[in-house]
Amino acid sequence: MTRTLVLGAGFGGITVATELRRRLGDDHEIVLVDRRERFAMGLRKLWALVGMGSYEEGSRPRERLGRHGVQFLQRPVTSIDPAHRRAATDGETLEADYLVVALGAEPRPDLVPGLAQHAHNVWDERAVPGLATALARFTGGRIAIVIAGVPYTCPPAPYECAMLLDDHLRERGVRDKTEITVATMQPMLLPNAGKEGSAWLAEQLSARGIAFHVKRTVDRVEPGRVVFTDGDLVADLIIGVPPHRVPAVVKASGLTGDGEWIAVDPATLETDYENVFAIGDVTKITLANGLPLPKAGVMAELEGQRVAAAIAADVRGEAPPASFDGRGYCFIEMGKTKATLIEGDFFATPEPRVALKDVSAEHAEEKHRFEAERLERWFGSGRG
Ligand SMILES: Cc1cc2nc3c(=O)[nH]c(=O)nc-3n(C[C@H](O)[C@H](O)[C@H](O)COP(=O)(O)OP(=O)(O)OC[C@H]3O[C@@H](n4cnc5c(N)ncnc54)[C@H](O)[C@@H]3O)c2cc1C
Repeated sequence: MTRTLVLGAGFGGITVATELRRRLGDDHEIVLVDRRERFAMGLRKLWALVGMGSYEEGSRPRERLGRHGVQFLQRPVTSIDPAHRRAATDGETLEADYLVVALGAEPRPDLVPGLAQHAHNVWDERAVPGLATALARFTGGRIAIVIAGVPYTCPPAPYECAMLLDDHLRERGVRDKTEITVATMQPMLLPNAGKEGSAWLAEQLSARGIAFHVKRTVDRVEPGRVVFTDGDLVADLIIGVPPHRVPAVVKASGLTGDGEWIAVDPATLETDYENVFAIGDVTKITLANGLPLPKAGVMAELEGQRVAAAIAADVRGEAPPASFDGRGYCFIEMGKTKATLIEGDFFATPEPRVALKDVSAEHAEEKHRFEAERLERWFGSGRG
């Protein structure tokens, strides 16, 4: 009997576990660990904010992953020993032949003075109801969305948030009394989409009357005021996108070496340790232009598929599968009923090739299907 231990049951971990079970019989044990009982996608946070369904509608109990022949353990991972492919959870040490670290990235508002106290953090689902209540009471004024650290998960999401709010406030009849501003510390709005993609996004924001600033580094946040290193922005509602870091248990494992993230072989997602893989937001893959591969669920899923195929081939003594090719896509919401499709060949040289497609209602529907299909495939029908 061989065993794969998957740490983290988000996009990446669920993909590895379910895909591996599809490929290998019951003589290969698959153990999946996550501290949280339920799964929901990041996109639900924004939808819940603007009344596009509730967070609960998109959430599912992870124990239902058992239907795939995967053993799910709801526990915190308290230490990881990659050299021996071991992890400690609440009082038990789990050993494995293959270890996959898919523990994601944590929003860390504590790293920017005042951010946790004076800004809403929609990158944490626990903060969504508070902002939704503040929005319901909002009758006009200034809203600031500030990107206070990079990298963060889902690079387009702050702009999606701005455009969803734009639609939402129009519906409520208070848009003409509201200024919406997005500020980023980055040199352009969406570096992964390049200058052209960022310019296109800037036009889209301008057409909706949404102001934006680039190269603005947040020094601190005070009540009703974002203080940058070169000026400030006064706002009635501040939405902060915090810096992200690996979970403390990953840092303590030594898997990040001298860096902040787990460096992996881009072709195989292998770490420096034999039969230890890392996928998704917890990793860093540097592209030909020096930028990191974007932290997105779809990338974690594609990486998970490659890792599952590699482990299955190794167990069976077969040749390894094709390398991970760094190709991915994502739907950017341009308001409540429209979206664009962005497709990236991120490993292309001398720089990634990223194409933005048309803005349409069809792409918005595809984004809703993106969620529905995965929830059905992973958890079966019904909310449970
Ligand atoms: C507002 C928003 C919108 C987004 N929209 C999109 C989108 O439209 N498309 C897209 O592709 N991506 C989107 N994303 C990004 C996407 O959610 C992440 O990139 C994706 O979840 C990363 O997958 P992952 O498996 O690496 O990590 P995660 O999905 O974060 O999973 C990590 C898991 O590890 C668990 N964990 C962490 N530490 C421990 C511990 N010590 N013990 C036990 N368990 C632990 C966590 O509970 C979590 O379940 C969005 C994100 C946000 C915030």
